Amino acid sequence: MAQRHADIVIFGAGIAGLWAHNRFRRAGYNVLLLESATIGGGQTIASQGIIHSGLKYAFAGKINKLAASISAMPDLWRAALKGEGPVDLSAAQTNADSQMLLIPPGLMGGLVGLVAKRTLGNNVHEITQKSWPEYITDSGFKGRLVYMDEPVLDIPSVLRALGGAYQDSIRKIDTPDEPMAFLERHGITADHIIFTGAASNHAIARHLHHDKGLETQARPLLMGMLKNAPFPLYAHCVGSSDKPLATITTHTLPGGDLVWYLGGGVAERPKDAPPQDVYKAAKKAFQTSFPALDFTTSQWAVLPIDRIEGKSSIDGWMPDTPTIHQQGHIFYSWPTKLTFAPLLAERLAEKITAPPSNRLGDWSFLPEVPYAKTPWENAQWNEDL
Ligand SMILES: Cc1cc2nc3c(=O)[nH]c(=O)nc-3n(C[C@H](O)[C@H](O)[C@H](O)COP(=O)(O)OP(=O)(O)OC[C@H]3O[C@@H](n4cnc5c(N)ncnc54)[C@H](O)[C@@H]3O)c2cc1C
Repeated sequence: MAQRHADIVIFGAGIAGLWAHNRFRRAGYNVLLLESATIGGGQTIASQGIIHSGLKYAFAGKINKLAASISAMPDLWRAALKGEGPVDLSAAQTNADSQMLLIPPGLMGGLVGLVAKRTLGNNVHEITQKSWPEYITDSGFKGRLVYMDEPVLDIPSVLRALGGAYQDSIRKIDTPDEPMAFLERHGITADHIIFTGAASNHAIARHLHHDKGLETQARPLLMGMLKNAPFPLYAHCVGSSDKPLATITTHTLPGGDLVWYLGGGVAERPKDAPPQDVYKAAKKAFQTSFPALDFTTSQWAVLPIDRIEGKSSIDGWMPDTPTIHQQGHIFYSWPTKLTFAPLLAERLAEKITAPPSNRLGDWSFLPEVPYAKTPWENAQWNEDL
């Protein structure tokens, strides 16, 4: 069998693998990206696409370290969207320039506003009521509206921008549980191997006896979806607890219907919780934030999913950077957030010191991989509440 050598083989075409693949190909490395299912079809397509500025973490009092490390990210992504970053995302779309923070009247709202200003300085600005968008005024919202420096990206277009540039080296793996046997079977060798398979990384590390000192965590979510949404909205609705009641992003179905995708407090529950619990929590949050809106004709759906990341260094809550677990020339990695995919790729680049071979691999003997569909395209809509 012909020997097929790559500078780098990456397993997993979520945002982490796609960004690293694109970045290393651009730099002249001969890279093969292997995906077991669909491009982006794990957490990435299920994400809300918010490029966090760190403000959300002001709620949980974990602000300083985490918020500071996150607050540099929006500029980095914006440069890529202009085609000026380490990868070219100029073909991708932005759904909103800024996520809003909707703060109800009262002490907590005041505190959050103060903390946000102190922590993130110029990255947040409050809009006086007379300048609110009409749909916010009409929704019956009362309180304070703050624009945050958090662009919201259209993830399907990000996947295509990253994948499309170097589609010839994104290929299917049919035995994802046995990645090394797959390489051997096809005569593929590599100087470096990067695992960005999220949930599968830990099991593979264990199987290869590389798991000493490795800790990961899975946080379950039951995300909500609401069809026939009243208007495009990108907002964190603040309540009296330390996390947003609901984090809302808006997406458009192929027929033009608007979908509100609901994370934050409404989604933080076991994946097998009754879907009605999510709908009830969402309606309660909407009653508080948008008392004038009527959701009686809305359709609802849920998406059970885990967030997978390296185990938190900050009291088990959330790590403040991407995680890389290295065993010789093999790297097991988690971006922790979509937001951090560029940072993860740069950290990997610091570890891969060998120069690029500037050779082009021919991987056409392996099958191509389709792009993932969105959760709202796959949803089972439910009218009966
Ligand atoms: C509901 C939800 C909302 C989120 N919202 C945001 C947000 O708004 N902003 C933000 O910054 N972060 C957000 N996140 C976090 C973010 O989505 C993840 O941190 C990020 O997408 C993880 O990317 P990844 O590439 O590591 O993993 P994934 O996207 O899960 O991709 C892993 C890929 O690897 C493939 N794979 C697995 N095993 C193998 C194998 N052995 N060989 C080959 N392929 C394999 C899988 O099929 C999959 O395609 C959200 C997460 C969730 C779940």
